Amino acid sequence: MDGSTRRFFDGILGAGAAFGLLGAGTLATGPRRVMLRRQWRPAYLDLESAGELARRAESLFSIYRSCRLCPRQCGADRLAGEKGVCQSVSRARVAAAHPHFGEEAPLVGRHGSGTIFFSRCNLLCAYCQNWEISHRGDGSFLSDEALGRLMLQLADLGCHNINLVTPTHCVPNIVRALRSAIPRGLRLPLVYNCGGYESLEAVRLLDGIVDIYLPDFKYTDGPTAAKYSSGAGDYPEVAAAAISEMHRQVGDLVVDEDGIALRGLMIRHLVLPRNLAGTGAFVHFVAHKLGPGTYVNLMSQYRPAWQAQRYPALSRRITREEYEQAVTWARQAGLTNVHLQG
Ligand code: SF4
Repeated sequence: MDGSTRRFFDGILGAGAAFGLLGAGTLATGPRRVMLRRQWRPAYLDLESAGELARRAESLFSIYRSCRLCPRQCGADRLAGEKGVCQSVSRARVAAAHPHFGEEAPLVGRHGSGTIFFSRCNLLCAYCQNWEISHRGDGSFLSDEALGRLMLQLADLGCHNINLVTPTHCVPNIVRALRSAIPRGLRLPLVYNCGGYESLEAVRLLDGIVDIYLPDFKYTDGPTAAKYSSGAGDYPEVAAAAISEMHRQVGDLVVDEDGIALRGLMIRHLVLPRNLAGTGAFVHFVAHKLGPGTYVNLMSQYRPAWQAQRYPALSRRITREEYEQAVTWARQAGLTNVHLQG
């Protein structure tokens, strides 16, 4: 972190202290939900032993025949090699996999979050910081069994979870990979780390499979979403419905006795210049539809990347005043579990 960024965050932390800062960078005034690790087991084990995980895998794979895995509803026959907006076929492509220490503290712990970055994306934002992976599609195709082995390798490295980054367009492969890893001992929570542009049908099929949902909530205004995320004008209502379903499934964040996430919903919101993300409406939604104790990461690290310079409104970082305004809105909405730096 360079000096100017440090000063920026010092200012933010100062703002946070005025309304109950507990620990670095966290506006946390609500109770922490703790479960003893020995009392926890991943939800997918019960589905597997009941035969339900196999049925879910088949249901999800059948969607590839006329793809409606996400709200784009392309209808591409991905089993026959057709491609929709995400440019993906029926095999997962992976760009990188490693323990990650830059994620939220409850995911990182001491040994890192076991992160798997999937190539391609269904949202395709103009300012994507990982455009080589999401837009250009850098990465290698893996069989579902190889993907399962990758999960086990991350577990062997001591990672606290399997963090699936941009998983939406390859969920069927992920569930098959999970099934291949369970008999070989996988017992870590799955983190579904997505852009928030999810179909309700697919999210419902993940009920009991995913323990930790980590969606973005990027916009609360449809035309803004359409302009900067490849025509996804229905993003606000789609994301609100999907995230509400995620919350119904897993509830608020639960951590173990060491503060490591076991289960629950964690929402990321990237503050954009000129309030393009609609932060005031976002925190209002969280407080009133999900509850004030919902974990929110209010992210300040926007920088113009990929094609952002084509859009004057996106061509600069956010100001300190813009971030402080976002924090004020979160406080005024009554949110009690907000991470202020990321
Ligand atoms: S996952 Fe890809 S092919 Fe399927 S509906 Fe979404 S963008 Fe289209």
